Amino acid sequence: MFDTLSERLTATLRDLRGKGRLSDADIDATAREIRIALLEADVALPVVRTFIAKVKERAKGAEVSGALNPAQQVVKIVNEELIGVLGGETRRLALAKEPPSVIMLAGLQGSGKTTLAGKLAFWLRNQGHTPLLVAADLQRPNAVNQLQIVGERAGVTTFAPEPGNGVGDPVDVARRGVQHARDKMYDIVIVDTAGRLGVDEELMRQAADIRDATRPDETLFVVDAMIGQDAVATAEAFRDGVGFTGVVLTKLDGDARGGAALSVREVTGQPILFASNGEKLADFDVFHPDRMASRILG
Ligand code: GDP
Repeated sequence: MFDTLSERLTATLRDLRGKGRLSDADIDATAREIRIALLEADVALPVVRTFIAKVKERAKGAEVSGALNPAQQVVKIVNEELIGVLGGETRRLALAKEPPSVIMLAGLQGSGKTTLAGKLAFWLRNQGHTPLLVAADLQRPNAVNQLQIVGERAGVTTFAPEPGNGVGDPVDVARRGVQHARDKMYDIVIVDTAGRLGVDEELMRQAADIRDATRPDETLFVVDAMIGQDAVATAEAFRDGVGFTGVVLTKLDGDARGGAALSVREVTGQPILFASNGEKLADFDVFHPDRMASRILG
């Protein structure tokens, strides 16, 4: 992902090299190229606009410093602004003072929530935590089973509704799951919730009810980086319908343009905490805005 964006940005910035001084016209031309590259990568228009305005303003106002030539200065500015769009500092998971902490996962069906639940549990376990997975996605017939399989692979326990009791109430399962964690001394509860193919009111209500019943320390919006511009609209719908405290980008290993996912932080104001880039448990990491910016700028 981001290969084309990366190529275009580096090519544009490479063109500046060798220029002793940059005129305002040079900066405008470069800004135009960057704008096109970002738009082609699916970065949301308002994000592109703000980004370009800042780069231009800073590049034109830049003092020519001894250490950097003008081209390097523009590269530095673009890099810093990119890090800013991606959230600046790495934001760590906020855990409760009194365990168990509750992490609720929300997002569309197919966004990679269940896979992520396993990855997150695995990651937390490797850090010495004792996570419990809670299967509150009772919409998709196989979801509970899938979470149990992922949990086994990650070496963590899954709390699921008892079989044979009908479909069950996901809010009740989530509430009992948290209680179970408290009783059995698990220190982090990861609640997997149902996703639909598109945003719908019932889904939002259910997720909001689960939120109210479990009072999460973190609600993570899981978004498939492959879905393009829909990522932004979906993020806004979840922000308004459920609210979330952080974002997880999934499927960053795909070859889609990915810029929309990069816009989610700026559009919703919530940080990207983790990135998922494959189907294996270990294909997962904390999101580092600076590393992502370096990757994009080549
Ligand atoms: P859910 O409906 O949100 O629970 O989504 P799932 O966890 O079932 O994931 C949907 C599909 O995406 C599955 O086939 C996963 O194996 C796949 N998937 C999840 N995360 C990633 C990822 O980071 N990269 C790739 N390539 N596939 C992923």
